[in-house]
Amino acid sequence: MVGSQDESGATASPHSVVVVGASHAGVQFADRLRSGGYTGELTLISSEPHLPYQRPPLSKAWLKGDATSESVLLREPDYYAEHKIELVSGARVERLRRIPGGVEVKYLGDADVVVRQFDRLVLATGARPRRLGLPGTDHPDVLVLRDLNDAQSLAARVAAGPMVVVGGGFIGLEVAATARALGAEVSVIEAGDRLLARAVGEDTASTLLAAHRAMATNVVLGAVPASITHRADTIQGVRLEDGRELPAATVLLGIGAEARTELAEQLGLECDGGIVVDDRCLASDGWTLAIGDCTTHVSGAGSRYRLESVDNAVEQANAAAALLLGESPSQRPAPWFWSDQGDEKLQIVGLASGHTSTLVRVDPQRPRRRVILYFRDDALTAAECLNAPADFVALRSALSRGYRPGPTELADATIPLKKLLAPARS
Ligand code: FAD
Repeated sequence: MVGSQDESGATASPHSVVVVGASHAGVQFADRLRSGGYTGELTLISSEPHLPYQRPPLSKAWLKGDATSESVLLREPDYYAEHKIELVSGARVERLRRIPGGVEVKYLGDADVVVRQFDRLVLATGARPRRLGLPGTDHPDVLVLRDLNDAQSLAARVAAGPMVVVGGGFIGLEVAATARALGAEVSVIEAGDRLLARAVGEDTASTLLAAHRAMATNVVLGAVPASITHRADTIQGVRLEDGRELPAATVLLGIGAEARTELAEQLGLECDGGIVVDDRCLASDGWTLAIGDCTTHVSGAGSRYRLESVDNAVEQANAAAALLLGESPSQRPAPWFWSDQGDEKLQIVGLASGHTSTLVRVDPQRPRRRVILYFRDDALTAAECLNAPADFVALRSALSRGYRPGPTELADATIPLKKLLAPARS
């Protein structure tokens, strides 16, 4: 029910709610708030000119030409009007100011500066791609990939000549695989001694390294870029610190993203790599809600982590909406993530940090299917599934219902995980 007090003491019965950012988190929040019975004003402000769309296809199906800008929309064009959600597109929020009982929002609309007041604020500002401060990186063919405009620029360059992807993270590797499938000559340079060092374990990283090399991508590990070289207006290549130069017509920087926290900082909210929020998505003032990639989550036990995934955006949006609706918090399912790199389908569930042991399950009949299980003190905490969607579903279900068996119970790779993790066993 909308109209109760929240734990911050602020009234939880807003007549108007504003969400800054209209992507996976912002749109899901609005949807969940409306479907939960909120009838007041609901405004989404987006700096992007497009209708809200899904980002994951930008490095995969959309870039490959298997999806269109319409097919990747998060909701049908009529959805917003039908649900009485005011969508203000192409409007960047420049300033936020707390006022008694609410917030004042100043944004740059089509031509004018607009100042409006709302009863409740949700920040869903996401993240921006990191850039490199090296000579040559300001060239227009040195690209990043975060939004549809970036994807359009990238798509226009795939056939332009060799591409060098800087950074062996998810987005770089997805683009590399898609560009190879489109016939481009692709190199990936990674400063570390393996791919995806922050995101997956060694086994999955080396399996994916072999897969990318089998796609004929030139993956160079331990390679630190020194400069982007160009002649006249054309990029020639990426020079490495060790003097080698890789030919390039286009360079994609895939070196991670940083949370957009500037608006939160204006409000004096605690930020630590992201806007610090609790389980219910309340920021440090106990009033502002923040959801999605722009947040750093503090767990009940005090550990801090930042997730960049659609699942996290959706789950935090649901939790924040539930708070405003006066619903009691629900148990959050185990976090999950996916990445498609050519034919390699990776799905990750749970959090592997702090694990004390691992178990690799491979069916000799189907060696492309690999499942890496992570345990802390003999209790399952996370898993990486390569080309094993049924195993992923079983693992996600088990972890979400708190079933955490040890390695001995899951060791026999000839017995499907679906059987070993069946609800009857939990
Ligand atoms: P964002 O999607 O970043 O949206 C934030 C929005 O807020 C943006 O539109 C931004 O312009 C707007 N904004 C920011 N500041 C302002 C302001 N001052 N005023 C107005 N508007 C503002 N995740 C997966 O789980 N699986 C995948 O396979 C996967 N693939 C991906 C591929 C790509 C190419 C990218 C870029 C991301 C991928 N992700 C994937 C990550 C996923 O897309 C993000 O986790 C998700 O988009 C986060 O949603 P969000 O709403 O929190 O933030």
